[in-house]
Amino acid sequence: MSITEKRPVHIVGGGLAGCEAAWQLARRGIPVVLHEMRPTRGTDAHKTDSLAELVCSNSFRSDDAQNNAVGVLHAEMRRLGSLIMSCADSHQIPAGGALAVDREGFAQAVTAAIAGHPLITVERGEVEGLPPEEWESVIIATGPLTSPSLAEAIRARADEQALAFFDAIAPIVHFDSIDMDVCWFQSRYDKVGPGGTGADYINCPMDKEQYDAFVAALAASDTVPFREFEANTPYFDGCLPVEVMATRGPETLRHGPMKPMGLTNAHNPTVKAYAVVQLRQDNALGTLYNMVGFQTKTRHGDQVRLFRMIPGLEKAEFARLGGLHRNTYLNSPRVLDHTLRLKAEPRLRFAGQITGCEGYVESSAMGLMAGLFAAAEQRRQEPALPPPTTAHGALLNHITGGHIETVEAGPRSFQPMNVNFGLFPPLDANPTRDTEGNRLRGSQKTVAKKQVLAARALADLDAWAKTHADEPSEAAA
Ligand SMILES: Cc1cc2nc3c(=O)[nH]c(=O)nc-3n(C[C@H](O)[C@H](O)[C@H](O)COP(=O)(O)OP(=O)(O)OC[C@H]3O[C@@H](n4cnc5c(N)ncnc54)[C@H](O)[C@@H]3O)c2cc1C
Repeated sequence: MSITEKRPVHIVGGGLAGCEAAWQLARRGIPVVLHEMRPTRGTDAHKTDSLAELVCSNSFRSDDAQNNAVGVLHAEMRRLGSLIMSCADSHQIPAGGALAVDREGFAQAVTAAIAGHPLITVERGEVEGLPPEEWESVIIATGPLTSPSLAEAIRARADEQALAFFDAIAPIVHFDSIDMDVCWFQSRYDKVGPGGTGADYINCPMDKEQYDAFVAALAASDTVPFREFEANTPYFDGCLPVEVMATRGPETLRHGPMKPMGLTNAHNPTVKAYAVVQLRQDNALGTLYNMVGFQTKTRHGDQVRLFRMIPGLEKAEFARLGGLHRNTYLNSPRVLDHTLRLKAEPRLRFAGQITGCEGYVESSAMGLMAGLFAAAEQRRQEPALPPPTTAHGALLNHITGGHIETVEAGPRSFQPMNVNFGLFPPLDANPTRDTEGNRLRGSQKTVAKKQVLAARALADLDAWAKTHADEPSEAAA
């Protein structure tokens, strides 16, 4: 079949993910129709009609591919021929170790590249409701501000619980930074439950003095205000930030997420804790634990200081800090398959922030993956998953199955996540010596571990890309 006879892949949403997916398909010779509703219909955050508009910060965060997980993701995307990274690199502005861009120049470059590609047609207008049946292959990349009619249709098709309109994020801690000489594993009243062991939670004990000091600091903390369009949404009644609970009286937290009942300190069984902070395993690898009930809008700088007041978390390293935002995202581990297709209707594939990743770079990366998977399908090939040791593989794995749900956490415990080293499978053995053979100490060990994880990711990505992703087409522009 010639290129022009091939049926197009329809992409809904011309943001970061949609543009990246379109580019990856087109460079493999597959025609694309990209549907973008702006300027016909706007969102609460976008200001222009450009494709790939950055709605807030102009930073793609750290560009350090040796020490930082998002830097590794940048490097992998560059190796996979990412349009978003190439336009970001050509419109970079000085920002220390971060990759920041001139937002207008960046968006115009993406818009021009997409508009100029002979295999991509851009159609302006909202896709209302589910895409028509005759669109056989669709990528939905409509982002955190997906228009209401499409969002409702997706919710109805996937199931009632499948789509959330806010995230309520509790901080997530790297397991190996928790002091288990202070904390202990135990489920409340040793309840085993259907999928547990009776010792599923990590418990951090507090005496009265520690609790009072913590609650006072929390109540006095500085919070990030809601944007106007966020403040008008009723969701917040059902999900109180922990600092708001702290202002409702000194005992509120002790009767809520910090209640000490049903728990016995394994290190000090005769002394009853006055309050307990619990952490629950967040990923199947067991490398990450989330702070149960600690959704918060406290400023990020304050969160680290505050949560390190908790006994056992004095040296906590955070894979993610807390937040509450307007968002639209799927309960992906339940409703998407491993190549981001909706299980209930596989012609619909999802990409970008709506899949439950967080941030410009991660959204673009999940657009890149969706583009590769859709391209393989169009060529009647089995889509190949990137190894879980790569940043793309780790993120994809988190979205489509790495996160674990527990009965107590309810069916909606999946929350959006930035890429971080906690999502990568652990090393068989952590480095103990530097390249000169000197013994590593303290934080040197953490740095060395990250460097080995980063190097492993890039080596594995290269090997995978050679066989699965490097498919330049004679029709590519
Ligand atoms: C207020 C706000 C601030 C943010 N700040 C940051 C930040 O500082 N840094 C960061 O990394 N991330 C930030 N984010 C998250 C950021 O928006 C995403 O990471 C990223 O833009 C997601 O990319 P995407 O392609 O999935 O969605 P988007 O970039 O939002 O693109 C989705 C596109 O789909 C279009 N669309 C929606 N519905 C339809 C429809 N029915 N038919 C046709 N087109 C449709 C939209 O107009 C939009 O162009 C912020 C999000 C919000 C809401």
